Amino acid sequence: MHPTEHMSEQLDNPHSQRPDIDWFAGRRRYRHDGADVDGSMNVVQTNVDVIVVGGGLAGLVVAAELADAGKRVMLLEGQSKLGGQALWSLGGLFLVNTPEQRRLGITDSVDLALADWLASAEFNGGANDAWARRWAQSYVEAAATDLSPWLRSMGVSFFPLVQWAERGGGPADGPGNSMPRFHVVWGTGPGLLEPFLRRVETRQAENLIDVRVAHRVEELVMDGGRVAGCLLHNTVDERSHAVHADAVVIATGGIGANHELVRRWWPDTLRDAPADMLQGVPDHVDGSGLLTAQQAGAHVTNIDRMWNYPEGIAHHTPVWNAHAVRVLAGPGSLWLDARGRRLPPPLYPGVDTLRALRHLTTTGSPHSWLLCNHRIAAAELRLSGSVHNPDLTNRSIVQLLKRALPRPAEPIQAFIDRGLDIVTADDPHTLVARMNALVGDDLIDEHELRRQVLAYDRQAASGFGNDAQLAAISTARRYLPDRLMRTAGNQQILDPSARPLIAIRMRAFTRKSLGGLQTDLSSRVLQADGTALPGLYAAGEVAGFGGGGVHGHRSLEGTFLGGCLHTGLRAARGIQTDMS
Ligand SMILES: Cc1cc2nc3c(=O)[nH]c(=O)nc-3n(C[C@H](O)[C@H](O)[C@H](O)COP(=O)(O)OP(=O)(O)OC[C@H]3O[C@@H](n4cnc5c(N)ncnc54)[C@H](O)[C@@H]3O)c2cc1C
Repeated sequence: MHPTEHMSEQLDNPHSQRPDIDWFAGRRRYRHDGADVDGSMNVVQTNVDVIVVGGGLAGLVVAAELADAGKRVMLLEGQSKLGGQALWSLGGLFLVNTPEQRRLGITDSVDLALADWLASAEFNGGANDAWARRWAQSYVEAAATDLSPWLRSMGVSFFPLVQWAERGGGPADGPGNSMPRFHVVWGTGPGLLEPFLRRVETRQAENLIDVRVAHRVEELVMDGGRVAGCLLHNTVDERSHAVHADAVVIATGGIGANHELVRRWWPDTLRDAPADMLQGVPDHVDGSGLLTAQQAGAHVTNIDRMWNYPEGIAHHTPVWNAHAVRVLAGPGSLWLDARGRRLPPPLYPGVDTLRALRHLTTTGSPHSWLLCNHRIAAAELRLSGSVHNPDLTNRSIVQLLKRALPRPAEPIQAFIDRGLDIVTADDPHTLVARMNALVGDDLIDEHELRRQVLAYDRQAASGFGNDAQLAAISTARRYLPDRLMRTAGNQQILDPSARPLIAIRMRAFTRKSLGGLQTDLSSRVLQADGTALPGLYAAGEVAGFGGGGVHGHRSLEGTFLGGCLHTGLRAARGIQTDMS
């Protein structure tokens, strides 16, 4: 049977008209008993209990926890180093009722957080959401109890100013965080990885963990209906082996770098995927582990739910294909579509990602613009990721204090200087000419843009006004971290003393997968009939961060790294229980 036939049987496919893709084209093909169809397979005898596939955050958590419990683990990583996407990440975690929140006067609880989660997720009540819903409750409870003390016990600390990500903007029972919950690890993603890498290294020295980098898993080995090991390919010496163990954990991440897969399963609630979509994840996020597990009989759900962003700019020094960096903007810039029209309220930066993406794709805009000036850029513009926040990543107070300087942060300035997606000018006429030149089309009408900006500026100057964005700025300024780090106040865009004017062309980019392998609360991978596939477990993004879709349709942010920690812990506990 052709692999795509197998897949269309298994995938929960609401879009049967979507084209088939030969996922396995160009890859080696194996029989499930481990023999290479082209010749004999070298079966390496190992004495490990568990094989963990993928050395990102989720895989590291599972490996460290199992080794601490005395299990012998083989950790297989396709790249030359461990860490996965978390190395690049900002290290933001969705946590509930923490000391940091309380110090800022925030009263949070499981009930409030779960209400926000469910309103954002919009679970459909169908079979594919049943486990996801249970995982959502389980994650929120862990985020309010175990997760933060556990991390602190390993030396992880948090930046004291809790950020308010994805804050919604509709009615009180609508999507979004009703309060700040985004806890940035002091040291960002690398700081979060540190204790797990240290633990793995320690257990490696004690021969409890066998770490093999540059080893890609290409297929799972089956034995009597049970997953009994995997076939792996050493990408250095180009040799392949089969290794056996009592249990295999898939922790290979999502599909964000697999454009074919992303386009095929692009959410129906959005219009067509933009042609020139950028990529916000490293190339290794290719969905190979998901497909490998599915080929062995795992059930994949909600694969058409994704968390992609509209605010991407092309990296001036790309590390991966179509490398996108996310612009994190405060409330003071005007967000315009490709024709220079303001997005409707409440679509300001950082408010409702899915709705903004939906708006932009349905208006057919290939890109949008963020319009601000030098003063707003200095106070409000940041970029996501560990690399672009060297102050937090290097845990440097001195660098952090530079955020108060009246000039754009150095990483932003580097993008301004290269001018790839950013244009600046001292007057509106030149700015519009440069915006149109950048896209090669006179899409923006200078007269109309001026009219909108002048109307906004008049109200910003008056201190009153009925523009909903100015109300959002006032609300933000009542929250200390926003006042200190994220708002320039009622700043007029055309203020001559705040120039140059700055326009940033932003494009949609792929980032997180919300669907994945369906798992029960012990991270056992389920089959289409709801029974566990014996011997197989999954953690992290490949498992839709739990249950094949814990987020439903939306994330409250910080739930991805948090989801890796939670599903990784659950997988380790589940395996120990099943083996005892
Ligand atoms: C720039 C950036 C910023 C982010 N910021 C945040 C944030 O602030 N907060 C948040 O919650 N989330 C954030 N995220 C998302 C978060 O980092 C990821 O969702 C999370 O790290 C995924 O972890 P994972 O272990 O499931 O998968 P990954 O990190 O993708 O790790 C999977 C590993 O498996 C390996 N692998 C894949 N296939 C195979 C195979 N066939 N054989 C062997 N190995 C394989 C890969 O090489 C990789 O190392 C960010 C992501 C990026 C890129």
